[in-house]
Amino acid sequence: MRITVVEGDITQQDVDAVVNAANRRMRGGGGVDGAIHAAGGPEVLADCERRFPRGLATGDAGWTTAGRMPARWVIHVVGPNRNAGETDRGLLTSCYRRALEVADELGARSVAFPLVSAGVYGWPREDAVDAALEVFRSADTSVDEARMVAFGRSAYDLIRSRLDDERPPA
Ligand code: ADP
Repeated sequence: MRITVVEGDITQQDVDAVVNAANRRMRGGGGVDGAIHAAGGPEVLADCERRFPRGLATGDAGWTTAGRMPARWVIHVVGPNRNAGETDRGLLTSCYRRALEVADELGARSVAFPLVSAGVYGWPREDAVDAALEVFRSADTSVDEARMVAFGRSAYDLIRSRLDDERPPA
């Protein structure tokens, strides 16, 4: 699996699936969740209501339509809310692992990811990047591109530097 990095807005990515950093209620929210529901339109919420009547557990993933976005599916994950005492890092790596499993079920080959939990949920950004990279590096999946979407220049520079650090010398 190739790991790529772009700076931009995840809602505009031309990939098979975009990952949403949702919350347990699965009825929309702020940050990337708000952007995905706004760009995808009401079909995304309607599909959330239909498929997730009781929401989703922290660390888990599930899919809906992407509505009006260029992607075909949204893979929603619920990252740990560090600000609410969810400090178990395994919950964060689980989001990435489960997202790739759902992508495989869907047959999605390219998947765009935000930095789950690194916004309102308060996970330190550098460790949030490393958690994603650890899972991507060791994943057994048919996904051939994991695209990390950096929202802003500083996130882009951070992801690039962690990616270069991890890559063994040629
Ligand atoms: P969480 O509640 O899981 O922390 P947030 O949406 O608050 O989720 O933030 C997660 C990450 O998504 C942050 O790094 C934030 O900068 C980023 N983000 C916010 N909007 C977008 C967007 N439109 N595209 C890509 N990333 C985004």
